[in-house]
Amino acid sequence: MDLVIEGLSKTYGNGVKALDNVSLTIPKGMFGLLGPNGAGKSSLMRILATLQEADAGSVMLGDIDVLKDKDQVRRTLGYLPQEFGVYPKVSAYEMLDHIALLKGVTAKGERKGLVDALLQRVNLWDQRKRRLSGFSGGMKQRFGIAQSLIGEPRLIIVDEPTAGLDPGERNRFYNLLTEIGENVVVILSTHIVQDVKELCGNMAIINKGKLLYAGPPDESLKSIQGKVWEKHIAKSELDGYAATGKLISNRLVAGRPVIHILSDERPGEGFSSAEPGLEDVFFGAISRSNAENAAR
Ligand code: ADP
Repeated sequence: MDLVIEGLSKTYGNGVKALDNVSLTIPKGMFGLLGPNGAGKSSLMRILATLQEADAGSVMLGDIDVLKDKDQVRRTLGYLPQEFGVYPKVSAYEMLDHIALLKGVTAKGERKGLVDALLQRVNLWDQRKRRLSGFSGGMKQRFGIAQSLIGEPRLIIVDEPTAGLDPGERNRFYNLLTEIGENVVVILSTHIVQDVKELCGNMAIINKGKLLYAGPPDESLKSIQGKVWEKHIAKSELDGYAATGKLISNRLVAGRPVIHILSDERPGEGFSSAEPGLEDVFFGAISRSNAENAAR
């Protein structure tokens, strides 16, 4: 069952066009929604999660009209927002039990079975009696996944899940997501390219409310094959290259900048051809679209 988005637009009261005629089909499995801060990711996630209205367009989850049949969507949705906001002074067990009750699991025995299984699944069984307010970032995210899985959702939305996690926690979280992503639509919204690279069979890139790419990450690499150029430069040269508008990334290697430039031909002395990575696709698409916007 696919999630089919057509012509979705959203403009806020202050005039910011957060989504501009976005059309996108999202199949089962892990789907990465990649965009810089302010791209419109959260706006899209909130509309899909029925927390916000769109101005125009349609969204279908199988035969459910997401923008109209909100109750039906909510019954089949797991949502893990960027920030829960409050972490009450109740235990993980009590909180899951409470959320399960709210989601309609009224039989006590059934609820206990469900909560026990979820705690084990996200590896929080040993912490089940601890207060949520004392949880680490990674534990909070795993708790978030546990609560989102109540009610066997067909659509799971995860907004910027790995921000603030240390590498170990991030890995545990990745493994958990991969397991649950096998049978449902999981949308992972992130500005971290590595999240998408490691997890997602399909992805989209958005910037300033516009869809720039949709498809498998591997295929996106093909489009820039042979066009990525690399050079070790002095720090003082960086501004000059940045001003050309062709610079897609710079990182430091042993304290010296290494830049990547997107160009059909060798951009100059000292450049060597580089193997394209997903970072190049992402930053290339963003810088191209920003340049087009500036030229308009
Ligand atoms: P992302 O999640 O990719 O960072 P958002 O969807 O949060 O992007 O934001 C997209 C754009 O819409 C940004 O320019 C942001 O400032 C603006 N925006 C988001 N929410 C609101 C709001 N409630 N009111 C006005 N502007 C908003």
